[in-house]
Amino acid sequence: MRVVLLGPPGAGKGTQAQIIAGELSVPAISTGDIFRANVSGQTELGLKAKTYMDAGDLVPDEITLAMVKDRLAEPDAKAGFLLDGFPRTIAQAEQLRSSLHDLGNALDRVLELVVDEEELVRRLSGRRMVVDGQEVQRDDDKPETVRHRLKVYREQTAPLSGFYDSEGLLARIDAIGSVEEVTARALRALGVDGGDESGQPASV
Ligand code: ADP
Repeated sequence: MRVVLLGPPGAGKGTQAQIIAGELSVPAISTGDIFRANVSGQTELGLKAKTYMDAGDLVPDEITLAMVKDRLAEPDAKAGFLLDGFPRTIAQAEQLRSSLHDLGNALDRVLELVVDEEELVRRLSGRRMVVDGQEVQRDDDKPETVRHRLKVYREQTAPLSGFYDSEGLLARIDAIGSVEEVTARALRALGVDGGDESGQPASV
């Protein structure tokens, strides 16, 4: 199964991506994680991406697209994947569609996690990661950067919802609730919960 997870910063994409990908037995591919690993490893890609990330801006498409293309060409992504944080612009979505088309593939489903902005700001400003046993705040989770990331999301990424809806791929789910509740809604929308529901895409 080839799935894109869409949703604003703080919607819980990373958490859900890991769980859902496990259920689907496909790799979870997070462009944010790949960028962060490159920043910590001080690679050329990381050095290029860091300034944009710290400012809460999108990394330019030419950098991002090359990276994703390489990642999708790896053997573990052949039979399916769950993309988290990509695409984030219409241009990236079009590029993804054409790369998959060249391989004779297409997306099966786009799952949008829906959370209102007030809740997002609350979650992001309280979010901490554990690095070397210490709780730290991600540089881009500082309040002013959070507001900017949400603006970038509204302007550049939110239009993907309409783009994928018009392709008949979109399922929107309410992402407020416990992790387990949201996972259950997500799996139902993907038709893989194995429960007694019809497997029809859920809506908010
Ligand atoms: P979040 O969803 O919490 O904003 P991510 O971990 O997905 O965080 O991304 C962190 C940062 O990495 C983004 O703010 C952006 O700078 C960069 N990034 C990640 N994915 C992309 C992408 N597809 N296109 C451009 N930049 C990206």
